[in-house]
Amino acid sequence: MKTFLPEALSYEQVSPLQRPSMLDLDKPQLQSLLEAWGEPAYRVQQVWHGLYRQLAATPEALSNLPKALRLRLGAETIWDPLTPLETLHSRDGQTHKVLFALPDGAQVEAVLMNYARRHTVCVSTQAGCAMGCSFCATGQSGFQRNLSAGEIVAQVLYFARQVAVRRERITNVVLMGMGEPLANYEATWAAIRRLNDPEGFGLGARAMTLSTVGLVPGIRRMAHEPEQVNLAVSLHAANDALRDQLVPINRRFPLAQLLEACRYYIAQTRRRVSFEYALIAEVNDRDEDAHQLAELLTGLLAHVNLIPLNPIPDSPLRPSPRARVQAFQHILQQHHITCTVRLRRGLDIQAGCGQLRLRRQQEENRATRAIQTE
Ligand code: SAH
Ligand code: SF4
Repeated sequence: MKTFLPEALSYEQVSPLQRPSMLDLDKPQLQSLLEAWGEPAYRVQQVWHGLYRQLAATPEALSNLPKALRLRLGAETIWDPLTPLETLHSRDGQTHKVLFALPDGAQVEAVLMNYARRHTVCVSTQAGCAMGCSFCATGQSGFQRNLSAGEIVAQVLYFARQVAVRRERITNVVLMGMGEPLANYEATWAAIRRLNDPEGFGLGARAMTLSTVGLVPGIRRMAHEPEQVNLAVSLHAANDALRDQLVPINRRFPLAQLLEACRYYIAQTRRRVSFEYALIAEVNDRDEDAHQLAELLTGLLAHVNLIPLNPIPDSPLRPSPRARVQAFQHILQQHHITCTVRLRRGLDIQAGCGQLRLRRQQEENRATRAIQTE
């Protein structure tokens, strides 16, 4: 949480990084800020609505506030921590991916996916990721830092403003962008609660899905949260030898422990768990792998999402061919495991999270090397 400035310090002397970031304030904190500014109590709700209901991109847009307050909010706080750097639109026009800069220069990606009447936003919870999964662009580019709750929420608000132009709303949020949400537990859950707040953005908890690489203590902790957020677990392999290679954190939390935590979660919440399985040609897509996966999940309130791998640069890993995906799905169905094949949306815009940032990093490195060798 950002601290307020000591009274003696004037805001003009303070760098933007030290200004309070509005989306990081909970309501009592917003209240103390406005109180310290000598504003009447009813302004709290007005500003809160301005942020989360009117979705104002700047305080200037809030015509119900006095001009002086709008100016002060603009000058002395960070209203929105995101600066869009680059936007890519998929060829079919349904998927939009944005690379944002945060106030300290860290970069994250978020994606808007439109289909039927749904608008789903995929958000990042960390800049980079420390888990180092071998098939993941984010994992390959390393860990920079955790995002704050406000920085997570801001990604949703950015796209909410876009669809609001057509009088539509964000219907779903998936925490499946860059980073491991359970490695940034507090900020992630603060963001979920903020989005869920009926006085604010008002998105139902059931419309949100948190995807984890399988951090066992985090899953157990989630089992006791009152919000009924969906849990997705990234499995990708049904035996430890293979999962150790694809998902290195498996060495710390092997499959038996992970499945035990999922069982605990289901027992506590009576909610189904989704298991993500990226199909990688000749790595985890044999008939034998499908049978093992089915055995692992039998008796569990589970659903499997099969996702043909999104190829990433400089990696020999390839997606399974269509016929293999179908054969794999068929075996799971024979074992009565419900599963769906997730469409690869926006492949042409490198929709796998982390890919845009990785590409930019590589371009910047190449440019630096070019300068150095000149
Ligand atoms: N760290 C969390 C959430 C972010 S990754 C997690 O791992 O679950 C979101 C999802 O994208 C995960 O299921 C992850 O395994 C998957 N993923 C990452 N790279 C991928 C790729 N190249 N192709 C397909 N899925 C990928
Ligand atoms: Fe991190 Fe998830 Fe990528 Fe693994 S798949 S490196 S946990 S973002």
